[in-house]
Amino acid sequence: MSRFFSEKYARLEPYVPGEQPRDKKYIKLNTNESPFPPSPLVEKAVSEESRMLQLYSDPECRELREKMSEVFCIAPDRMIMTNGSDEVLQFAFMAFGDQRHSFAFADITYGFYPVFARLNHVPYETIRLKEDFSLDPQDYMGIGKNIVIANPNAPTGLCLPLSAIEEIVESNPDNVVIVDEAYVDFGGESARRLIGQYENLLVVGTFSKSRSMAGARLGFGFGNQGLIEDLNKIRYSNNPYNVNRLTAAAGIAALKENEYYMHKCQIIQANRQWTAGRLEELGFWVLPSKTNFLFASSGRIGGEGLYRKLRDRGILVRHFNQERIKEYVRITIGTMEEMKALVNAVEDIFADSE
Ligand SMILES: *Cc1c(COP(=O)(O)O)cnc(C)c1O
Repeated sequence: MSRFFSEKYARLEPYVPGEQPRDKKYIKLNTNESPFPPSPLVEKAVSEESRMLQLYSDPECRELREKMSEVFCIAPDRMIMTNGSDEVLQFAFMAFGDQRHSFAFADITYGFYPVFARLNHVPYETIRLKEDFSLDPQDYMGIGKNIVIANPNAPTGLCLPLSAIEEIVESNPDNVVIVDEAYVDFGGESARRLIGQYENLLVVGTFSKSRSMAGARLGFGFGNQGLIEDLNKIRYSNNPYNVNRLTAAAGIAALKENEYYMHKCQIIQANRQWTAGRLEELGFWVLPSKTNFLFASSGRIGGEGLYRKLRDRGILVRHFNQERIKEYVRITIGTMEEMKALVNAVEDIFADSE
């Protein structure tokens, strides 16, 4: 730290992204990326758009929002496009949080929420998930705080029914409820069709997971015009060109080939089912997942040990050194070939320890 660093960030603990090592080629099952490349049109669109890089991008993302509107059936004035969904989440903490409007979220959920709260000096409370890691909607009824719920949740993979989300939104009319749907395309039910009914509902999504665009950084928020106006006020005060030309072009192209991605999501779900079955046969406790990852623990080896031994064998999974989930690893679902390699490696590790 230099002696110039502002005191207001002295206690900041930054988010720690999953490792992206360069030392050798790993099977990467640690950051919930898609194992599939973007659809064919995307490369062409990005290449063509690159000829226009001397010009700023469209701060209103008009063409992109129109395409979004066709695919998601949400009016363009009820959405905001951002540099990854992390950015729309950050904007939401900035826009809706202050000393009198604190935030609440689960104790086991996406690690960026507490970081955004601290970055913006927004007080927050974590609400303990039940012993089986399910979220009890009763804990969120009428709590008078802004709420963030990842649905499906990470890293547990568990999903709440839309009816539970609706009850939470309805019971907190004077606070914003943010539903982070980063994984919704892998088996969840989106809350986006409720945004016309509830002025306090913000639904957040991303192209990073189900649309193979983690490296392009494209996210979005759906909400009523009032919420979107607030978020845009923050966006125009940060960076009106937050979605660059190449990313916007890639996003438009991806939406034109939406079936390609939805088909890949089906493949991921089938691979997930196969992998969960094999891990259970090997004695793992596997949470029922509606995402592109599995959260699993084994009585035979601790979470950290398994992470290390898989890493030695060229397979990266994610381990969180956090209370309640130390014994678990989070395994991204990849291709069938990658999943077989994972299962073989686990068998190998168990054989070694006999
Ligand atoms: C991956 C993820 C995000 C962020 O994705 P971006 O790449 O910033 O769009 C947001 N929320 C959850 C729960 C995630 O797992």
